[in-house]
Amino acid sequence: MKEQRFLIHSLAASVLLMASACDTETNKSGPLADLVLTGGKVYSLDWTDPDLDGQPSADAPFNDGTWSPDASAVAIKDGLILGLGSDDEMSAFVGDATQLIDLNGATVVPGFVESHGHYPELGEIAERIDLANVTTMDEMAARVAARIVNTPPGEWVVGAGWDEGAWADELPTKDALDAISPDHPVVLKGRRGFGTLVNQNALDIAGIASDFEAPSGGEIVSDDNGHPTGVFLNRAQTLITEAMPPATLEQKKRIVMTGLMEIAEAGYVSGHHAGVYADYYPAYAELAEENKLPVRVEAMLAARPENLDLMNSWIERGPTRDPAQKFQVRGVKAYYDASLGSRGAKMIEDYSDMPGHSGVSGSEYGFPEDVVMAAIAAGFQVGVHAIGDAGNREVLDFYERAVAVDANSLGLLHRVEHAQIVHPDDFSRFGQLNLVASMEPCHAVEDSPWAEDRVGPDRIKGGYAWRTLRKNGAKLIFNSDLSGTDFDIFYGLHCAVTRSDRNAMPEGGWYIEEAVSIEEAVRAWTSWPAESSQREDLTGTLAPGKFADITVLSIDIFNVGQSDPHRLLDGQALMTVVGGEIVVSQL
Ligand SMILES: [Zn+2]
Repeated sequence: MKEQRFLIHSLAASVLLMASACDTETNKSGPLADLVLTGGKVYSLDWTDPDLDGQPSADAPFNDGTWSPDASAVAIKDGLILGLGSDDEMSAFVGDATQLIDLNGATVVPGFVESHGHYPELGEIAERIDLANVTTMDEMAARVAARIVNTPPGEWVVGAGWDEGAWADELPTKDALDAISPDHPVVLKGRRGFGTLVNQNALDIAGIASDFEAPSGGEIVSDDNGHPTGVFLNRAQTLITEAMPPATLEQKKRIVMTGLMEIAEAGYVSGHHAGVYADYYPAYAELAEENKLPVRVEAMLAARPENLDLMNSWIERGPTRDPAQKFQVRGVKAYYDASLGSRGAKMIEDYSDMPGHSGVSGSEYGFPEDVVMAAIAAGFQVGVHAIGDAGNREVLDFYERAVAVDANSLGLLHRVEHAQIVHPDDFSRFGQLNLVASMEPCHAVEDSPWAEDRVGPDRIKGGYAWRTLRKNGAKLIFNSDLSGTDFDIFYGLHCAVTRSDRNAMPEGGWYIEEAVSIEEAVRAWTSWPAESSQREDLTGTLAPGKFADITVLSIDIFNVGQSDPHRLLDGQALMTVVGGEIVVSQL
């Protein structure tokens, strides 16, 4: 690795030497950039990792508590970085056709990677009418009417978020909807999941008239004359969901694009989709084929019984071979236990706040060990969801079995998704098994009000333990697990460095000894996910020859994160460059 770094450096040095030895005129016959960003604070991250306590390395541009950018300009050609250096040095690469952008002091870092997300969910949310906090039927109808204007007749209009609890005394009815939507089926889901309101058009399509019998466990609410009012409760809601057509491929592509554009706007150049099923896979594949993906996508195929056809077809083919392709199918996502909040995560001992209960895991939870083993044998990197200390231990046991079957498994850098509560005896096994701990800093902050109730004061010390995992040799990568948590990178960095919420609570941070330094946090969203995907020769830091995957930020995250981390929340992503293409720019 070291030799390779040196080689890249000496290549870069000779390119720069050549550039400065010649005058600008003569260099016009040499390589000219397509794009040059100047006037920035560039942090290449092309230096040695910090030590296991987070102290920057001797070759890091860090002195007396202050970070210094290691370049001000980046030159880009054919999607790759041609050079980094001062504005003056990079001007050697500027020709008549070069696009020159002055960053006006903005900060430049390697593009952020969202290494665990569910992108179509963002698109689905964006396509639904938002009914949160709607308290009157007039307002509900007005929001539906605004959407209908732009929806072709016959297409389903879907909203979500009205509060069944707040409407419990006087449930909404379809009358106000029928007046505005004769030509569209309308479905408005409640935020708590137990009520759905539909209009007459939807009732007709579902074939539901007076005296239709509801399935057991459900209710079709009706008026005094026995006519349905449009509200379906509990299990009766399936009558509606079953009547809705599945989204078409074109709709799914639009939904995927919406999700990916949202992360591009937030500064991400790449997204790992943790659990791709056969429903959205064709949308990704077609968008990739049409060269329309705005960011790089690493698909982790869902190893679930209902997804075996897609899994098996890829196990037969093996992972994507061309590393330059924007769409990579090189991972598998498996599920070992559920969540801590719902007490579904598998604990070694009972839950502290529910004696007699320790959660479920493994095959009981739908973990198909034989399929995951076959994926490993085919060369896929596996990421297994594990939350409880027993869930984590059993997943470590599984990875140990995989190494016993095939020692090459160690080289695939398998992942543990969440690695939320780990037994003290098990931390060292992460390093021994060459594992990646894929974690969500903001989950720690958001779970902090109740997580200790679930597991008690001792087990919580092995919870959300980023520092301990890193010290034990785990490769740390950070992500949001969107759409459940805000994927704003500044919020994420803030959670990672302060272990406190937007209001700086709890004061001093929650188990602050497990926090990471700003450099570690930035790396856990850039160079470390590149390494964990074995793509560090291509991306993750800014160096000549690597992908021109770049994020431009309004604040100097290194110095703000170092000296005044709560101000990280003031940051904004200004520009996202993927493979030399400016995908988003607010400059
Ligand atoms: Zn997830």
